[in-house]
Parts: sequence; structure tokens; C-alpha cells
Amino acid sequence: MKVRIKIGDFKNRVSVTCADGKAVVEGNEYTLPEKFFAKSNPDPSIKYALRLFHLHTEREAEEILKTLPDEISEHLKIIKVGRNFDGVGLDRFWIVKEEFDNQDECEEWRDSILKKSDFEYRKRISIEGGIYKLYPDIPATSVVIADQNDNHLLSGKNVEIVSPSGMEITDAPVGESFHWEHTENLRFLGKLYFMPGENGVLVVNEIPLEEYLASVNSSEMSAEAPIEFLKAQTIAARSTVIATMDCHHHGEPYDLCNGDHCQCYYGSGRTEERSLQAAEMTDGIILIHDSKVCDTRYAKICGGITEKFHHVWENYNPGCLPSKFDGEGDKPEYKNWNEYINDKPDCYCNPEKYPYPDYFDYARPWFRWEIDCEVGKLSQIIEERTGENIGRIQDIKIRTSGESGRITGLEITGSKDSVEVNGELNIRRVLSESHLPSSCFYTTFEDDKIVFHGAGWGHGVGMCQMGALNMAVMGFDYRRILAHYYPHTQYYNINHKINTL
Ligand SMILES: [Zn+2]
Ligand SMILES: [Zn+2]
Repeated sequence: MKVRIKIGDFKNRVSVTCADGKAVVEGNEYTLPEKFFAKSNPDPSIKYALRLFHLHTEREAEEILKTLPDEISEHLKIIKVGRNFDGVGLDRFWIVKEEFDNQDECEEWRDSILKKSDFEYRKRISIEGGIYKLYPDIPATSVVIADQNDNHLLSGKNVEIVSPSGMEITDAPVGESFHWEHTENLRFLGKLYFMPGENGVLVVNEIPLEEYLASVNSSEMSAEAPIEFLKAQTIAARSTVIATMDCHHHGEPYDLCNGDHCQCYYGSGRTEERSLQAAEMTDGIILIHDSKVCDTRYAKICGGITEKFHHVWENYNPGCLPSKFDGEGDKPEYKNWNEYINDKPDCYCNPEKYPYPDYFDYARPWFRWEIDCEVGKLSQIIEERTGENIGRIQDIKIRTSGESGRITGLEITGSKDSVEVNGELNIRRVLSESHLPSSCFYTTFEDDKIVFHGAGWGHGVGMCQMGALNMAVMGFDYRRILAHYYPHTQYYNINHKINTL
């Protein structure tokens, strides 16, 4: 099973370095033949002609001609079009069928030939190691692949590059619209597809599901983690991929995106031996509940109690994602969420009770946290985010919360007006320059500052990654971990299509 992941929409051009490989270009120009031309025909003795392909180089045109069946190609010829002005111009090469007396004759030939041969236009070229540039043609209906010296090699509606030793994309976008947004050179295995996108060139990577999971594992957490944790993480990632494929990006030429929206994926360069091992050891295993694949979400630190699906996303409550205490026994009782946040329950993700391994030092501050912001500054952020000028903030009232204390609706009152803010992720975004770590918090006003006293990191639904990690450190196996976060589930192997123990 293979998955296609969107790597990015590149505005101008994409630069790809390959060690070796081949490029395949697909198009469907043949099945959508161009109109007829008469006046612009370079040979005035010919009245009508049919243009079948429009290309950038003569070599490209010759390559296409070779791929066509003889009974078609013998009637066709390559002509050069485009005008040069003082040596400056843009040559194009057309493959045409000429010698028609009228338009009807032309249409008749086109229809008969198209009915006869229903083949795809597909060309292959070998490319040597080196740097290639890909950019949108104008108008952006095809992508051009050029070598380092800007020589056009091929163009088409879909350019595919395969390089067995891997490929590297220069300056790929990472973490778009989050505070860690930057560009990075990313390495890929499998196939890379380049097609016309909304902004320029859309890049998609196709790799086997298991290789994808191994990279997600390393990108999401750390390959240094105990193997039982990595196995649990891989099964959760595999199940959620299978459950959400073709839903999040229905109708797009890819299954998943590579950001937080789906799962973080930064190419094969991020894959480590141990995460590959975890993928192999759990090959094909997913969790099912009620004969349905479980959408096994996970997040970094629940803070003590996990959240229910419908408080974060749409109104749907899969039985495999209950809200539960992330420790031994039942949920402790609290008078209110302030008391819960001030308390530090004895749960698996509490670093004071279950110390985090050194390589997760960066997560330690987010079990319980305090973030402050100057009132004027926050008022300004709220205006930028909501478009409402409510004046200087005077009060933040919580309207609705989920079962982990995560706020799902609140009202902010200012000196001029008030504004309602709803949705877990939206609340985190509106009240911070980047995003608050979670929406489980209460606020206090101290001098000219608003202080957020919070718990946890992320949406809190499903597996708590730091809790699961600590369970593995304590010696629990992946089954025990998964049963804790996703109760009442069964194992199923997608490769063998059987229920497994
Ligand atoms: Zn997505
Ligand atoms: Zn937890």
C-alpha cells in the first residue's frame, strides 16, 4: 500500500537534486487535441491542420512521435512556431497533421484516430545526477522540467521523478502558519510528482505506507524512545492514516498533507533505524472498533485527563476515544478546572512523578505552565485575529469546556465591546502570538498583565504521547499502552485482512 503526501505548493520554482534516476512526464494533450489552424500555418498552401501537441523542445516532440503507433505518426510532422524579435523569442514545437481541405475533414480524422487509439501520452527520459528545476508553464496548466543551465527537458501535466538513491528538495516549507514556520532542505525516497498547483508547482511524494510511518514516528517524537512506545505510536499513526485517508483531502491529488493538519512528515531523511524497526514489527496492524477503523488521534501531553473527539472536531464520538484519567484508577474529583490545573495529579504524563527522559526535556515545561502577556499587546493580537476592536481587555469568561478542562468557547470583554471565540485550536490561536500550548487554562490579571495558568500541550484527544512514553519506560508493552488510551478496540492486519490478537 502506498500513500501520497503533499510536500508543498511552490510559488516559482522547485529545485530538486537527484543522485541518478529517470523522469516520466504524463499529459493528456493527445486526448484533447487543439483547435484547427489555417491562417497561422507556416505553409500557405495548406488550408487546415490539426495540432496535437504543443512542446518546448524539438527533442521532446521527437520523443513523443516515437511513442505513437506508426499508423498515426506517419501522418504527423513537427513544425516550429513562435516568432523571434532580434534573436529574442520563445520557440515552440507543434506536432501537427496537415493537408486537410476543410474543417469537417479535420474533425473526422481526429475522431476516427481518437476512437482507434486510446493511449496515454507518457514519456520517459533518463536523468543523470544533478540539480533540476521545475516551474509552472504559463498559463499554469503544465510543469516544465529544466536542467541546471535552464535547458528545457520536458513538460507536461504531471512530471514524475524517481531516483533510487533519493532526492533532495531545496527550501521546502515546514510548519506553515505555525510559529516554527521555516524552510528546510528535505530528502525523499519513492517518487516525486510535480503538477500545476494553486500557487505554482504542487509537489507530492509517494512512498510505501510503512516507510511513511517510520518517518512520521521520528518526525513526531524521537527514535530514541523505548521500542514499545514506538510500536504503540506506529499503530496509532497507521490507524489514523487509514481512517482519515481521502477525507481530509478528498478530491486532491494526494492522500495527506505533511503538516499538523494530517501528520508531520519531513521526508525519508528523518527516518531512523529504530522507527523503521517499529514499523516492521507492527507491519499492517491497525485498531478497529465496532468493525470500523479507529481514528486513533494522539497529542503530546493531556495534562491528566484525555479529551473527547467532539469537543475538538466534528460532532462524532467514536467509542474508542473516551475521556479518561491518564493514570491508575478513575478520574479524580475536582470542584472546578482551576483546582485541577493547580493540582498536579498522579498521572503518567506528570514529569514530577514520572520523569521524562532527557531527550524530551523540551516537553517538561508543558505539563503545567504559565504564560503572561501585556494587556495592551493581547488586545491588539485579539483584534488582528478576530478583526474586532473590543478595546482594552477587561475580562475573559469561559462559556464551555470539554471533559479534560479544555475550553471550547469563551467570551472576551473589552472596554468597547466583547467578542465570542469558539473552537479549541481557534482559542489557542486568538489568545497568543503563535498558539497557546493548550486550551485548558484559567486567567488572572496581575498589574498590566494577563497570566494564563494552563495544563497540557495539544488537543488532548486519544493517546497522550508523553504518558504513553512513560508507560513504556515503566515496562508496559504496546498492547497495554494502546488498551489504556483506546479501550474496547481489536487488532486487525490490513495486509492479511484478518483480525489478530
Ligand atoms: Zn492535511
Ligand atoms: Zn497524559
